[in-house]
Amino acid sequence: MSLIVQKFGGTSVKSIARIKNVARVVERAAARNPVVAVVSAMGDTTDYLFKLAWQVGGKPNRRELDALLATGEQIATALVAMALSDRGLQAVSMTGNQLGIITESVHTSARIVDIKTERIRRYLDDGYIVVAAGFQGTTPEGDTTTLGRGGSDTTAVALAAALEASICDIYTDVSGVYTADPNVVHTARVLKEISYEEMLEMARVGASVLHPRAVELARKHRLPLRVRNTFDPDHEGTVLKGADQMEIQRPVSGVTLDRNQARLAILKVPDRPGVAGEVFGALAERRISVDMIIQAFHEDRSVNDITFVVKREDLAPAKESLTAVAARLCAEGVLADEDVAKVSIVGAALMDQPGVAASMFSALGRAGINIKMISTSEIRISCAVSDSEAERAVRIVHDLFHLGETDS
Ligand code: ADP
Ligand code: ASP
Ligand code: MG
Repeated sequence: MSLIVQKFGGTSVKSIARIKNVARVVERAAARNPVVAVVSAMGDTTDYLFKLAWQVGGKPNRRELDALLATGEQIATALVAMALSDRGLQAVSMTGNQLGIITESVHTSARIVDIKTERIRRYLDDGYIVVAAGFQGTTPEGDTTTLGRGGSDTTAVALAAALEASICDIYTDVSGVYTADPNVVHTARVLKEISYEEMLEMARVGASVLHPRAVELARKHRLPLRVRNTFDPDHEGTVLKGADQMEIQRPVSGVTLDRNQARLAILKVPDRPGVAGEVFGALAERRISVDMIIQAFHEDRSVNDITFVVKREDLAPAKESLTAVAARLCAEGVLADEDVAKVSIVGAALMDQPGVAASMFSALGRAGINIKMISTSEIRISCAVSDSEAERAVRIVHDLFHLGETDS
């Protein structure tokens, strides 16, 4: 019988009542198939543990931070296993180490390098439901690591791939992947299916319902991935598929919002070879990722302005690095803007429809929303706008492309 991996996010296990509900959902699947249930920490536990670490004083040691953060998932797995036992089922909770999830030694953002599945398989063969702690692994030396925020999705997909599961179901607090965040756009609709490529792009630009690394991994293994609602388990949810297996190619599948953005500009830098390398090299040294880079020349063409976007928490260190580079290059100065959010549309057939970008920009213009920056990929158009106008912008764009109405 084919194995099913189910993953339950923080909101699904927020309270004992919800943990009991999760046990019911797992029980239904376990009546027909062997099950590995991957569990996140209860509610906001991970945020709370982070706060505790900072309260001790100074920047926490990353090894110890991982030791602390991993406890959130361990509490939740033990409780879920108990709730399953209470229903008369054989269940066992397992930590990252017990699961054999081997990662790199990069604390707080480790990547999985191998999964030694023998122990999980033994439990499954003996008829146990395995309740797996998400978000964590172990170094080859046995130190606890975590995979980065939202990492339980990645644990679920990695386990499903390693165990050759028939499907990986990500259970969350909404009924699937919607045309926009349903908590922002009330007319958003659940998509029956979406391609890995579109979902990856949506996840990268703000659709927090799935972690981009999990989508990438599912695509690599061609693993059927489904997003479903823990509180409405009969809803069929959204299935992720290869682009070639999709029945319909939509010009626009969804609209996303990423509010964790900030803008930086270095003004009047000399227009000569090596300058961009120096500017972005300084940021790369501090492991700061940049996006939406624009270089614009001035009238006499001897100097340029370079503008780009970073994550809001990276603004202070990025500004510090950029100010040092500006002094070295005799640039005029540095500008920082925290009032930025990114609104994006994603669609597999977007570039086949030449009018799409223009109609998005015009609709925002008609609504008096200023576009601060624009960037595009083959299947995405993103506009940086003022954070205070971002939610309105998402609703306007969602209406513009009739995403609440189209047959999806
Ligand atoms: P979990 O705790 O289950 O991991 P998350 O909070 O990480 O849940 O993800 C679920 C949330 O993702 C939803 O409550 C919703 O607000 C948000 N979300 C953002 N964009 C989308 C989208 N396009 N479709 C569905 N949910 C979305
Ligand atoms: N508990 C972790 C977090 O809050 C991992 C997860 O929920 O996916 O980031
Ligand atoms: Mg999540």
